[in-house]
Amino acid sequence: MLHREPSSSGFVTPVYTSGNLGAAAKVLAAGGIVVFPTETVYGIGASALLEHAVAKIFEAKGRPQDNPLILHIHSTALLSEAVASVPRSAELLFEAFSPGPLTIVLPKAERVSPLVTAGLPTVGIRIPSHPVAREFLEMCNVPVAAPSANISGQPSPTSLEMALSGLDGKVDCAVDGGFCQHGIESTIVRCSDGEVVLLRPGAITVEMIARCLGEELPGVRVRAPDAEGGAVVMPAQPEAPGMSYRHYQPRAEVFVTERIDGARTRKRFHGRRFGVMAMNRPPVGVGPATPVYVMNSAEEYAHLLYRKLVWFDGQGCEVIVAELPPPQGVGLAVRDRLRRAAGGQEL
Ligand code: AMP
Ligand code: MG
Repeated sequence: MLHREPSSSGFVTPVYTSGNLGAAAKVLAAGGIVVFPTETVYGIGASALLEHAVAKIFEAKGRPQDNPLILHIHSTALLSEAVASVPRSAELLFEAFSPGPLTIVLPKAERVSPLVTAGLPTVGIRIPSHPVAREFLEMCNVPVAAPSANISGQPSPTSLEMALSGLDGKVDCAVDGGFCQHGIESTIVRCSDGEVVLLRPGAITVEMIARCLGEELPGVRVRAPDAEGGAVVMPAQPEAPGMSYRHYQPRAEVFVTERIDGARTRKRFHGRRFGVMAMNRPPVGVGPATPVYVMNSAEEYAHLLYRKLVWFDGQGCEVIVAELPPPQGVGLAVRDRLRRAAGGQEL
């Protein structure tokens, strides 16, 4: 029996932890939806075998139905339940980067509901590495369809508290696994025989993928259409469905900049409360009462990005000015998320 009393945290949603995940797996098997941690961000999961359960995810998040979900599995042993074929490139990438923050888009198995894939002939598959996610998925022993556990359009949650701040009472239960290690969503690639295409940058970089495939499959092309340059922020024809939506946006209006000019920023937002997310050093001349957070590396930026966006909201900021990290490594993914959070607005 589920207990429905408010937990000590003040949330009405029942919360389970490692060692006690059988109950959460039962909720999922019975058609419930469950918030659970991964090493990227928190997810909201349903059994991919139960269409009515998957439908509840879209409802709880307010997610448009043409935005597909990723299937989460505990091992490649479950792959045959979800995909029709696995090209050699995908085998190599699973071997090299799974469990971990990489999603591979493959031809879907017939039994996977079009609700999961938004009608696409392909499905995204990920094997998370978070120990609590692994324990939970092993107990579920079915592919778990899960997007990020936020109200559609808002920043992805990187703690249970962030997830339940939007979804408390809208999900059947939740699993607590602490703060997420990476802090931004998985890298997504689409694999076919001749080509690997980056659909969303993340902690696994294009360079890592090209290096992994280079030796055994030198003929396979690794393509990264929107990885940088920044010219195209929201392509009219997105490579990955869902990527063109309003995304990752806090309440405050976000502006990105390569290098912050404190005095100019202060003048520009005169009369409005603004905050600054800076890279490497505090900004000069923004004024004494301005909320500031300094990121010391691209990894730290990724880890704290969403939590800090929400923190600036809590500080009463109407505007957040975010200095972009350099476009290397996971910095590319942070730039991608920040530009989307900013809806393309630059200073
Ligand atoms: P979320 O988990 O909220 O980050 O959303 C998952 C994202 O994965 C979607 O918005 C798409 O961008 C991407 N995705 C999932 N399935 C597919 C697929 N079959 N083909 C391309 N992209 C996909
Ligand atoms: Mg999301």
